[in-house]
Amino acid sequence: MSNIERTLSIIKPDAVERSLDGQIKQIFLSNGFTIVQERKIQIEKSEAEKFYKVHETKPFYNDLCTYLSSGPIVVMVLEKENAILANRELMGSTNPKDAKENTIRKKFGLSIDKNSVHGSDSPENAKIEIDFFFKA
Ligand code: ADP
Ligand code: MG
Repeated sequence: MSNIERTLSIIKPDAVERSLDGQIKQIFLSNGFTIVQERKIQIEKSEAEKFYKVHETKPFYNDLCTYLSSGPIVVMVLEKENAILANRELMGSTNPKDAKENTIRKKFGLSIDKNSVHGSDSPENAKIEIDFFFKA
């Protein structure tokens, strides 16, 4: 059975700052993703706090929200068969040091916090995150 899904991808400030957004988009396209929607924006810290609310009790929450709002980001809706898992696999582990060869975080990530990309982790969160950035 086919299972076409949509997931939210973010190219984070460290990657946009290094002008890697074109290359990263190309990696998604060459791995069979369709970029259904795309916006380049900079968000307020209060919006980052809302986006990362699941992490609000973590020690890195404040720095994470400061960081995500520190510069332009590219937010995209990606579509593909099993897109959520496929994107997580293509991104690689949260810590670039642990990420497999040929993953985006292995190639471009600088550190566990500046790891170049975000991807939704479940169908429920994909819907919430897509609505967060793209709801009319
Ligand atoms: P992922 O982005 O792989 O889904 P998490 O949802 O666990 O990872 O964390 C969200 C983001 O918070 C990570 O991408 C990373 O930027 C940051 N982060 C996670 N763990 C740490 C940590 N131990 N120290 C600093 N930043 C972290
Ligand atoms: Mg996550």
